Amino acid sequence: DACAAALDGLALYPDSNAFELKYSLSQHLDVSPECITLGNGSNNLLDLIAQVFLNDQSSAVFSEYAFVVYPLATKIANATQIVVPASDWGHDLTAMAAAIQDDTRLVFLANPNNPTGTYFSHNELVTFLDAVPEHVIVVLDEAYYEYCHNLADYPDGLTLQKTHPNLVVSRTFSKAYGLAGLRVGYMVSHPDVADLLNRVRAPFNVNSMALVGAQAALSDKMFLKDSQEVNRLGLAQLTSAFDSMSVPFIPSVGNFMCIEVGDGAVVYQALLEKGVIVRPLNVYSMPRHVRVSVGLKDENAFFLTQLKSVL
Ligand SMILES: *Cc1c(COP(=O)(O)O)cnc(C)c1O
Repeated sequence: DACAAALDGLALYPDSNAFELKYSLSQHLDVSPECITLGNGSNNLLDLIAQVFLNDQSSAVFSEYAFVVYPLATKIANATQIVVPASDWGHDLTAMAAAIQDDTRLVFLANPNNPTGTYFSHNELVTFLDAVPEHVIVVLDEAYYEYCHNLADYPDGLTLQKTHPNLVVSRTFSKAYGLAGLRVGYMVSHPDVADLLNRVRAPFNVNSMALVGAQAALSDKMFLKDSQEVNRLGLAQLTSAFDSMSVPFIPSVGNFMCIEVGDGAVVYQALLEKGVIVRPLNVYSMPRHVRVSVGLKDENAFFLTQLKSVL
């Protein structure tokens, strides 16, 4: 409804400073509006932070199997990629801290990680942050925050920012808020970092509909709750089916799961022909896995039936 109401105003440029959405977010997150940078999806912000802090004289550290945008953003900035071997498909934060070089300017962390669904704990993150030099920016990508923030040992990045000003947190309206098509995400950082991000972003990088849609979504507590519940039930439905089919999977706290299917590319193609699009993971060097998103109950059931017949 908020987006539809914005149709009438499309002759005008959006508010380039996004006063209203930033104000709502600042209330919602209990941070100052000057700490917030908005992006055309959080993907835009990951690119921008690489553009700000990386060049051909510097390096970025990220984990093996981590979200593909980190190597892409690093490559676009002509910086060196330092890829740290994963441990149990997740981030090895001890090894990542040790991998930081003199020329390292950024570390990318996904918590939970896409595509593996793994997460690291509050204690692991604090130990990591204490080991990172202050001048190295740590980007904590919390795209799936809303699905897992209730886990007892899940770290609260925004609280840790108070003691670690080099920590930058990114989140999105694309996942639990169900607005992937609108393209809106945000970064919360020290105001000096936000100032740099705002200097390089395009002035109207978030459109009028996205601004009002995201703001309305923030106050739609019912939808968010529903989204979390559908995901909780969907993960349980998929997990128990994979168990009974003896399909190995990586335990996930996201809204997707990685399963081991043999030849991922072949299974991807066979499922495609049956009307199910999963994600093959060759690009992540996980050729034996595919990633499947949690859907509605009937969609999950349809996928499971097709998977059974394909396997
Ligand atoms: C989906 C995703 C994003 C980016 O999503 P946007 O739609 O660009 O906000 C960022 N990080 C991870 C780990 C994701 O899975």
